[in-house]
Amino acid sequence: CGIVGYVGTDRSLEVLLGGLKRLEYRGYDSAGVAIIDDNGDLHTAKRAGKLSVLTDDLKVNPIGNGSTGIGHTRWATHGGPTDRNAHPHLGDDGRLAVIHNGIIENFAALKDELLAEGFAFTSETDTEVAAVLLGREYRATGSLQDAFRLVVSRLEGAFTLLALHQDEPGVVVGARRNSPLVIGLGEGENFLGSDVAAFVEHTRNAVAIGQDQIVTITPDSVTVTDFDGERVEVEPFEVAWDA
Ligand code: GLU
Repeated sequence: CGIVGYVGTDRSLEVLLGGLKRLEYRGYDSAGVAIIDDNGDLHTAKRAGKLSVLTDDLKVNPIGNGSTGIGHTRWATHGGPTDRNAHPHLGDDGRLAVIHNGIIENFAALKDELLAEGFAFTSETDTEVAAVLLGREYRATGSLQDAFRLVVSRLEGAFTLLALHQDEPGVVVGARRNSPLVIGLGEGENFLGSDVAAFVEHTRNAVAIGQDQIVTITPDSVTVTDFDGERVEVEPFEVAWDA
């Protein structure tokens, strides 16, 4: 049950794995990462079990580093703790990745809608409907921000949701409803976390995202809106925590 997002320099994998390590105290049954490498290709690695299972796997099957990435630890609610159900989940064209903490209450109705349109699913999770929906909306809008806004507006329940798309390297989007999400503000790099522990070793300048808000981070910008796309003012705070 942990989420990390990163955009900045060519060390995303290291930042993600470090953040996930710091979030381990929350408990989890699987872990996974997705990065966009320097050639602009999306790579994922995900495994049931401890973070060490994932990191050992990454030593044997490296995915590169790259400057954009998302990382997840899962506490299974829909679908057992298997490699396949671990996050990230990909869109149907394999060009985008999504991670999620929480429960999408209306996933069955959304899944039926997508199945009827001919989309296939590879996991038993509620989360994968958000990934497949995002792929559909991305092709319709050509914009990760716009597509993501359409997707989260349709989700009911509790979610901290992060996504990236290989056609938009250097961008990570996130949203929250009934589940936490915090921004970490860096110099030429920015972070997202379900908890400040995800990034506190890199920056203590943070912004808490409000209920039903969306954030877009790039290496040198942070934009927060509501689910209608209206800009929201943010108030940075300093993390007073002995890390
Ligand atoms: N409901 C999602 C799943 O079962 C996310 C669980 C979590 O919060 O880690 O995959």
